[in-house]
Amino acid sequence: MKLHYSEAFYSVQGEGKFVGVPSVFLRTFGCNFRCQNFGLPRDREKSRYNPEVEELIKRQVHETTEKFEDLPIIHTGCDTYASIYPEFRHLNMQKSVDEVVEHLISLLPEGKWTMDNGQDIHLIMTGGEPLLAWQRLYVELFEHPKMQDLKNVTFETNTTQHLHEDFVNYLNTQNRFEVTWSCSPKLSVSGEPWDTAIKPDVAREYSTVNGSDLYLKFVVADQNDVDEVGRAVNAYREAGVECPVYLMPMGGRSEEYSLNVQEVANLCMERGWRFTPRLHISLFGNAWGT
Ligand code: SF4
Repeated sequence: MKLHYSEAFYSVQGEGKFVGVPSVFLRTFGCNFRCQNFGLPRDREKSRYNPEVEELIKRQVHETTEKFEDLPIIHTGCDTYASIYPEFRHLNMQKSVDEVVEHLISLLPEGKWTMDNGQDIHLIMTGGEPLLAWQRLYVELFEHPKMQDLKNVTFETNTTQHLHEDFVNYLNTQNRFEVTWSCSPKLSVSGEPWDTAIKPDVAREYSTVNGSDLYLKFVVADQNDVDEVGRAVNAYREAGVECPVYLMPMGGRSEEYSLNVQEVANLCMERGWRFTPRLHISLFGNAWGT
């Protein structure tokens, strides 16, 4: 089995608990969701594609673009559309674990996860949804000889996928690296229905992995979303998941992002939730590889 991934890059973590930490990102291909409604009217009639993606496909951009990083950026729906829609699959890479590790190592400033000055580079498993079937390759990935000095791994997940038995057994017995579950369940603003998006039992399962840390992170645009966060957080708490809650303003472009950034910060102060910026938008704008 080979790992299908869109891109791997070195940047600073832009969101959540580890904002600002130098990190290598591995963006796996595929997602069980489409989140096509971000930035669009709530009552919009849903179709198979986000309208911007539909337009790209109509213009055959997926066939005429040669490299993943040359694909246009879109401003509504899932911001990593080329990591989820099968039409863009051929622009993604398919590599053995050895090849993936070589790629990751080539991105590190000193070719190793722990630098001579004692600082370590984090690995962020993102997507798409990184906890789909690719889990089957993760033990081999983390046990690779060139991954032995890795100290910190974050899974950025939509928190709908149960852990495979082999993988969870491995995580429960290893103590070489810290594991963080950055859980970002999708609210109705994404276009995904509550019953498939809010899975407290899955979050509970992640939270019971030995020595791991978990937080919830919600993308919000308005008061409706904030009310929904309140309901979701209650559902997670009822399932036994007590953890920090972060709100992150919606917006893939700096213009949209800055529109509601202060409002979200104020709401966080009111409710005792934590605010997370989208640091990469302020630093780099919206671009692949950041
Ligand atoms: S869960 Fe994340 S990767 Fe999947 S469609 Fe939604 S925003 Fe995109």
